[in-house]
Amino acid sequence: TGGLSVRDLSFHYGQKCALDAVSLDVAPGRFCALLGPNGAGKSTLVSLLTRLLVAPEGDIHIAGHDLRTAPRKALAALGVVFQQPTLDLNLTVRQNLGYFAALHGLPRGEVPGRIDAALGRLDMRARADEKARALNGGHRRRMELARALLHEPKVLLLDEPTVGLDAAARAAITAHVHDLAEQGLCVLWTTHLTDEVRDSDALLVLHRGQILHAGITGEIRGDA
Ligand code: ADP
Ligand code: ADP
Repeated sequence: TGGLSVRDLSFHYGQKCALDAVSLDVAPGRFCALLGPNGAGKSTLVSLLTRLLVAPEGDIHIAGHDLRTAPRKALAALGVVFQQPTLDLNLTVRQNLGYFAALHGLPRGEVPGRIDAALGRLDMRARADEKARALNGGHRRRMELARALLHEPKVLLLDEPTVGLDAAARAAITAHVHDLAEQGLCVLWTTHLTDEVRDSDALLVLHRGQILHAGITGEIRGDA
């Protein structure tokens, strides 16, 4: 499978159970929202998926690669937009992406073309030579999304990607993420906002470290 698969993943901080046998699947081409209130375990899951933490129990496969036994391949198939922005405001959009490309060892000759392609997917080509400082919050987020696509991942992990954005910027990001899913990416988008799950095509509800509900978004539209 080219998607994301998590099996029986558990994690404890000392005595505190943050994730309790979590399993989930997101297929290629699907835009899945992971909804959970503060403390549900979203950040812990993101840390495990990005291997900032390693779980003693459970398995994670990214595009078919086992994160435990083949971490380089698994992480190479993952694009991430972290909740905290990471960008240099004094660099241009292109320079910010170029820095990331160098950090990840992308072939030098391919970098300019990949940057243009990634920015194009987010309708950001016109902003390539602007300083990040000059961009509004929505465009900064789109720059980060473009950056997450540079190495052509199969799975895209977005950790509360709309925090701090206004409604118009949120709608723009959501529309772009839908396009990316339609192009075949597997998307997992975390949020604590019930409003945002309407935009996804699949939904997981995380509560106190457990998946309470997994289904298509329409099922809970009535009570969201
Ligand atoms: P969310 O991102 O959904 O708010 P977290 O993954 O941050 O949830 O937290 C899940 C649970 O683990 C919460 O009960 C939280 O208090 C606890 N927790 C998170 N980080 C730590 C830590 N470093 N030490 C102890 N408990 C933690
Ligand atoms: P989106 O609606 O997808 O968020 P933008 O935020 O890029 O698109 O564009 C918002 C508005 O700003 C549009 O009307 C667009 O024509 C205009 N615009 C886009 N890029 C520039 C630019 N570099 N300078 C001035 N206006 C721009």
